[in-house]
Amino acid sequence: LHAPGTIEDECNMNSGSPGHALPVAVAGGGIGGLAAALALARRGFPAVVLEKADAFGEAGVGLQVAPNALNVLQGLGVGAAAQRDALLIERMLLMDGVSGETVVDIPCGPRFRKRYGSPYAVAHRADIHGALLEGCRANKLVELRTGAEVTGYGQASHGVTVRLATGESLPAAALVGADGIHSKVREQVVGDGAPLASGAVIYRAVIPAADMPREHRHPYPTLWAGPDTHIIYYPLRDWSMFNFGATIVTGQQDMDETSDVPPEQVLPLFAANCEAPMQVMRAATSFRRWVIRHRAPVERWTDGATTLLGDAAHAMVQYIAQGAAQALEDAACLGWCARRAGGDFAQAFIDYERLRIPRTARVQIASLQMHHLLHAAGAARLARNNVFEGRNEAKNLAALDWLYMPQPWMES
Ligand SMILES: Cc1cc2nc3c(=O)[nH]c(=O)nc-3n(C[C@H](O)[C@H](O)[C@H](O)COP(=O)(O)OP(=O)(O)OC[C@H]3O[C@@H](n4cnc5c(N)ncnc54)[C@H](O)[C@@H]3O)c2cc1C
Repeated sequence: LHAPGTIEDECNMNSGSPGHALPVAVAGGGIGGLAAALALARRGFPAVVLEKADAFGEAGVGLQVAPNALNVLQGLGVGAAAQRDALLIERMLLMDGVSGETVVDIPCGPRFRKRYGSPYAVAHRADIHGALLEGCRANKLVELRTGAEVTGYGQASHGVTVRLATGESLPAAALVGADGIHSKVREQVVGDGAPLASGAVIYRAVIPAADMPREHRHPYPTLWAGPDTHIIYYPLRDWSMFNFGATIVTGQQDMDETSDVPPEQVLPLFAANCEAPMQVMRAATSFRRWVIRHRAPVERWTDGATTLLGDAAHAMVQYIAQGAAQALEDAACLGWCARRAGGDFAQAFIDYERLRIPRTARVQIASLQMHHLLHAAGAARLARNNVFEGRNEAKNLAALDWLYMPQPWMES
């Protein structure tokens, strides 16, 4: 653990008052940061969100919102807003990209919803982020600041002093680093350098519904597992568009962060897939490439009254669509621990990481293991299909329980 230098509380604000009279500073106003601020505010702790960008917003288009994520949104009082334009999916489907046969088909109807407390949804990222933003704006205990890049922090008698790129030093009761995969707060707390390149890239596209081949317009995500590739697509909002993502494992470590790539360069990379996914892929007119990065699980996220949350704490490959869901779970757990510790944030953060690190490490590892399932080639592909052959719904659901079941600290 990197020990930050102690700096004086030069602002003298609230000196002598209990630590939690000052707000908790939350670095980053993504899904994780906004959810954390709201979770704290709903427990009675004021929070200030410090967002680097000049406006709040979300990069990317589609987001799968698993029941564990919806349960948290519900608990934060923004469940209805989050689901307003979301689509509740009928099933989870895994197809063999080579043979075109169905490998896994899990119904997500009433039995699924009852078991996990919420349905499974697909949504526009802006709608989930927007619901949280609305919730924060409606809560008097949340202050939202843009153009506020956090560069570091120092320990102080009142909690922490947060340093901003503007040169400002902000006194806070505590600091939550929700500043994403390239987190500045993590740099100081953990100091494990840049995130790791996974060796895979994703080509993302938005396909207008009118261009989507009719036979592929399904009310659920269709996932095609091909040799060293996987392709996924699902409808968004009022079925006006389809979110499309095609991932390929190249093994290359350093590539341009993001770039636009024309279809004639992308399609040949996925040519080992059968006609059905390729037909959908041909409907996209432009692709944007993203390098998939992640982080290795670590045993500590906390340094005094500073902790990490979301991608800053446990960035993972997207293969089980849980990054944002785990950020939301972090937020709910953080609020619960803060209340239980009565606003002693150093204690609350120790409790929080004890609860969250084993689970998020498991999700990070499970996400990586999906590589073998999604990208299997040759005999490994046949073995993969054999594993799932004849599995009934009960067995498939039992395998998902650890991930989707409500967590004990989600009680209010
Ligand atoms: C291709 C892909 C598909 C995915 N699909 C899914 C899915 O279907 N379901 C799912 O649950 N998850 C999914 N994820 C994961 C999910 O996108 C992330 O885990 C989630 O967005 C993380 O949220 P966050 O708030 O922790 O970080 P971010 O969303 O990265 O937000 C960080 C915020 O902090 C700000 N910031 C950065 N640095 C600073 C600083 N120094 N000071 C202040 N502010 C700062 C940024 O501007 C940003 O607003 C996917 C990821 C990828 C790459």
